Amino acid sequence: MSVETPELTVEAANSKPASEPKELTDGFHLLIDAFKANDLNTIYGVPGIPITDFGRLAQASGMRVISFRHEQHAGNAAAIAGYLTKKPGLCLTVSAPGFLNGLTALANATTNCFPMILISGSSEREIVDLQQGDYEEMDQLAIAKPLCKAAFRVLHAEDIGIAVARAVRAAVSGRPGGVYLDLPAKLFGQVMDAAEGAKSIVKVIDPAPAQLPAPEAAQRALDVLKGAKRPLIILGKGAAYAQADDVVRQFVEKSGIPYLPMSMAKGLLPDTHKQSAGAARSLALKESDVVVMVGARLNWLLSHGKGKSWGEPHSKKFIQIDIEPTEMDSNVEIAAPLVGDMESCLQSLLNGMGDNWQTPPQEWLSAIAAKRDTNLARMEKKLSNVTEPMDFHTALAALKEIIRQRPDAMLVNEGANTLDFARSVIDMYKPRKRLDVGTWGIMGIGMGAAVAAAIETGQPVLAVEGDSAFGFSGMEVETICRYNLPVCIVVFNNNGIYRGTDVNPSGGSDVAPTVFVKNSRYDKMMEAFGGVGEHVVNQDELTVAVNKAMDSGKPTLINAVIDEASGTESGRIGNLNPQSVVTKK
Ligand code: ADP
Ligand code: MG
Repeated sequence: MSVETPELTVEAANSKPASEPKELTDGFHLLIDAFKANDLNTIYGVPGIPITDFGRLAQASGMRVISFRHEQHAGNAAAIAGYLTKKPGLCLTVSAPGFLNGLTALANATTNCFPMILISGSSEREIVDLQQGDYEEMDQLAIAKPLCKAAFRVLHAEDIGIAVARAVRAAVSGRPGGVYLDLPAKLFGQVMDAAEGAKSIVKVIDPAPAQLPAPEAAQRALDVLKGAKRPLIILGKGAAYAQADDVVRQFVEKSGIPYLPMSMAKGLLPDTHKQSAGAARSLALKESDVVVMVGARLNWLLSHGKGKSWGEPHSKKFIQIDIEPTEMDSNVEIAAPLVGDMESCLQSLLNGMGDNWQTPPQEWLSAIAAKRDTNLARMEKKLSNVTEPMDFHTALAALKEIIRQRPDAMLVNEGANTLDFARSVIDMYKPRKRLDVGTWGIMGIGMGAAVAAAIETGQPVLAVEGDSAFGFSGMEVETICRYNLPVCIVVFNNNGIYRGTDVNPSGGSDVAPTVFVKNSRYDKMMEAFGGVGEHVVNQDELTVAVNKAMDSGKPTLINAVIDEASGTESGRIGNLNPQSVVTKK
């Protein structure tokens, strides 16, 4: 089935010849007009039936169309574009299998509260609903629905404007998330009067309206906070997303309360800030008595707000700022829920704090500072080692220094040990510079995130990738070369998943399930597409290679040899990976 742009003549619209020729438009053009009207100018996708021509026409109209090699990575790029810009990132896919590939990214975006719109072509409704076996037949709308925030199908060209408006508003208002837009092949070719079509386009007014918290809720939060002896602030990626950077800083600094940044909230205030309790995390969680959650959820990443890491049961009170009311009490009682948008909520707290706000008792601040200094000194020792082959710390010491010197660079990070160690070693200095595996802790976001980071910010990107993690999206190095993006990928190559040292317990000839080809040269992949490949075995070589890449802006892949014995099982979440205690003959 091929879709051709229909002749834009009256005859195409009406069987009866009209008295005077009218200008016509069609589904393709209406969709492009609707996106542009809403300032959505970039599409991440994979071309194919029935959306190939749509991509061409979008590019011809001045939209940026970035084609990937696999829909999941295009979707991850769209999600990160949404996170960075507060506008829904667009992902375009073909039907059934392409749609399903993109759907993984849509579900991930929704889980992470990133706004994106997945647009997939689909087969003919009549045939799909009678299950008559159409080309790539699938009831995509039904499948998408439980996995995203909203899902819509458009059957008539005159509804495209309103459908895009609904999709935009659903993606960015309240808690942001993923939206699915189902576009049957037939829709693209539908024609209508151009003037009527233009009127059908809706530019969404105030797509993410401010949501002011109730004054009583702010007062309640301040009352709880005033009674605190050992308060703690936890900043999450919801605070980073909100782009309320000044207000976040004012709240933290005026309150004088130590704060912990969640992974993607690192840099909202510089990690070197004197109130950062990042290096005293265990103590801060355990000993605090009042915890202010600022755009962060009490999910698995924070042990659900209970258990050993949180100290004595019921030993603390939570204040939580979130735009989503049902997030409150998700895991533990929230003593002071503050529901609204980040900026309005923090502003209401700041207003209520007045001029004589009491900062926390010195005893608490000193305890945190002492712990932080001890832990940082211990870390410093590991970072100052010189080893060849490198271990995670010696390699990361080089990258830590590079990011210190280049605070505007975007950092993408995924892997197990590569993620865990990089998160604690590499300090971030500016908001929304760190992009990582997010709420699900998934592998495979790397190259999609790197492409979007480069396209949306224009900054150089450093992608720090475990060798396993890189493999999920590695083919996108071609995409990076094709668009000549300033992306420097460092593959931490330790020959396998977690480590490269596992052996086949049966003694058979297959290698262990976690082991890759030894001494692989990932750098050759980049060279295959005209990018720069580098192979480094020590810290100095790594530093030189990364600086060269960041200065030149040329697509670069650095194969960094890491001691194959230096990783730990599952990184820091080994406790989530059940291990058998039963031995069988
Ligand atoms: P982290 O993983 O960093 O802890 P989460 O993704 O778990 O962050 O939590 C982010 C929270 O921020 C979500 O509960 C989401 O509803 C909330 N959020 C997102 N945008 C805003 C906003 N503009 N204002 C307030 N809360 C927001
Ligand atoms: Mg590895």
